Amino acid sequence: MKYTGKSMDELAIEDEPCEQCGLCCRIFGPGIAPTATNVYLWIEQGRTDILCWFVAHRETSTPIRCLDLEPEDLGSVVSFEMRDPNTGNYVTVCPFLRRVAKTRYLCGIHLVKPDMCCTYQPWIWGETYFNRCKALGKSERNGSFHS
Ligand code: SF4
Ligand code: SF4
Repeated sequence: MKYTGKSMDELAIEDEPCEQCGLCCRIFGPGIAPTATNVYLWIEQGRTDILCWFVAHRETSTPIRCLDLEPEDLGSVVSFEMRDPNTGNYVTVCPFLRRVAKTRYLCGIHLVKPDMCCTYQPWIWGETYFNRCKALGKSERNGSFHS
């Protein structure tokens, strides 16, 4: 996503064609998962506001809240999943998505968001199959992102 906000997590990044409509985050956000490296950084930075939204599944023991993970535990984690910290249920909307105007959305954890969010570029033709991305339509019309 492109950012023009003022906070550290909304640092201006103008080199992406994303139009900040938020549609990809609204549709796919509840299914995002961090890497072990993402979680390690959140632990090191004390980002309990992020960690509380994820649980870790391990090979030989019950799932554990990422809030309760120590860095040395990460080697035994096989996957992470987003869960509501209050109910333990799956979420229906990414808790980090911020609506900043009627049709404009930003990521509230932009600088430390999961790798899969960083590498998701639906505006690049052939990169994903999310053809509802507004920026993809624009790049198609401009002919600037694929030949
Ligand atoms: S973490 Fe940020 S970029 Fe990723 S789905 Fe949520 S709002 Fe979107
Ligand atoms: S659907 Fe496309 S334009 Fe909308 S937020 Fe996602 S990447 Fe940006």
